[in-house]
Amino acid sequence: MYNLHAHTFLSDGDLIASEVAVHYQALGYKAIAITDHADYSNIKSICKATLEFCRKWPKDSSIKVLPGIELTHLPPEQFKPLASFARRMGIKIIIAHGETPVEPVIKETNKLALLADIDILAHPGPITDEDTKLAAKRGIFLEVTSRHGHNETNRHVVSQAKKFSAKLILNNDSHSPEDIISPDRLNRVGLDAGLAQAEIDNIYKKTQDLIFKKNS
Ligand SMILES: [Zn+2]
Ligand SMILES: [Zn+2]
Repeated sequence: MYNLHAHTFLSDGDLIASEVAVHYQALGYKAIAITDHADYSNIKSICKATLEFCRKWPKDSSIKVLPGIELTHLPPEQFKPLASFARRMGIKIIIAHGETPVEPVIKETNKLALLADIDILAHPGPITDEDTKLAAKRGIFLEVTSRHGHNETNRHVVSQAKKFSAKLILNNDSHSPEDIISPDRLNRVGLDAGLAQAEIDNIYKKTQDLIFKKNS
């Protein structure tokens, strides 16, 4: 089991990266990504710290930890330069904080994020047909989330992705220890969003391919 969306003390999480990794490891996860919130004010320091942490994480550990970032509440034209910056630094998993129904996200965030070099569009809210097609065309994963509030549009995201053959990912978006839920509970989030078990299994296969690609 995998979760490619987790926060630490580097942004608004309650735990340091090691604690996050150990909590996920204890629940049987095989790989996670550390993806703290970033904009121009902190991207350099977050990338440096996360990359250093991941480099030092034991290679023989039962859990892989990938360096990631979540570009959050940017003026939408900044997704392109900041995604390129993070990629050049060596960040593997680039998430954009999408148009969730529970925060005032700037209009056109989904679209401009999908035009940048990102891997995952998190909680894309009431994503349009046009943006879902763009995600499909660019091979960017649309996120189904366990996060309270952001999860209100999970069913819409699933049905859009099915309609336009966009890739989905099931993520945890954890901030505190109680958000770090078991693989079974994360699976349940997928079922509640309208996915069949076979579809969830397929999502995990694609996630595994992504991790393999990023890790090699
Ligand atoms: Zn957050
Ligand atoms: Zn997040």
